[in-house]
Amino acid sequence: MRFWILPVGKFDVDATVLDPAAAPGRRLSIPVYAYLIQTPNGLLLFDTGCSAQCRLEPRKLLGDDFSQLLAPQLTPDDMIPSQLAGIGFTVKDIDLVMNSHLHFDHAGGNQEFSTHRFMIQKNEWEGLVQDPAQYLDPAAAAIDRTQLTLIHGDTPVDEGITLIFTPGHTLGHQSLLVETSTGPLLITSDAVYTREQFDPDHVGASTDLKLAQSSVKRLMEIVHETNARPFFSHDPNQARQENWRIAPLFYH
Ligand SMILES: [Zn+2]
Repeated sequence: MRFWILPVGKFDVDATVLDPAAAPGRRLSIPVYAYLIQTPNGLLLFDTGCSAQCRLEPRKLLGDDFSQLLAPQLTPDDMIPSQLAGIGFTVKDIDLVMNSHLHFDHAGGNQEFSTHRFMIQKNEWEGLVQDPAQYLDPAAAAIDRTQLTLIHGDTPVDEGITLIFTPGHTLGHQSLLVETSTGPLLITSDAVYTREQFDPDHVGASTDLKLAQSSVKRLMEIVHETNARPFFSHDPNQARQENWRIAPLFYH
């Protein structure tokens, strides 16, 4: 097994984007990630980063106001096909795509995988069908219904790889638990943006606050019970401070 954390760009954001309680006007540079797992059974991708339109026309895609609050800083190298190429793979090599959720910075690259199988929580897909505008990028929904495997709840994907249902940020959000030789890694995705928000009383943006709080509690329990290392989706400092292996480095 090999597990790569792929850096798929950065955003220049107002502090309020991460923390609604923060004072506006302070800018932060935050990372965006996707994740690749190679098992004896195939190559699994968790999240797909941003779309080409998000890189080239952020104002058109996100609107004037939001693209000010959150300004994509994306290069061609940040796109998912380039990140895969950087570690010796192509889009074609991927056997299964999983999305933590369908927001533009986690599923914008979905349009690159037009013939691939997708595994997404049922509530997430239904949320998108009911209100596509809240997800911001139509590229996330560029999936034919025949490509979709809709799941509900925690789902084992392969040996030592489990999707953990963590609704609240969006209605069908899921996180990822991966067993490695250095112990389990818990990829929270947007259930937890930063180390400071790994606290049910300090959650970030949510569609359903109560659900988001119970999902954070659940992730904290998993960390407590399994000794998993949590990795947060947009923490500006965690990867460096805690010496996480970022691609081309990997876990095995
Ligand atoms: Zn999100």
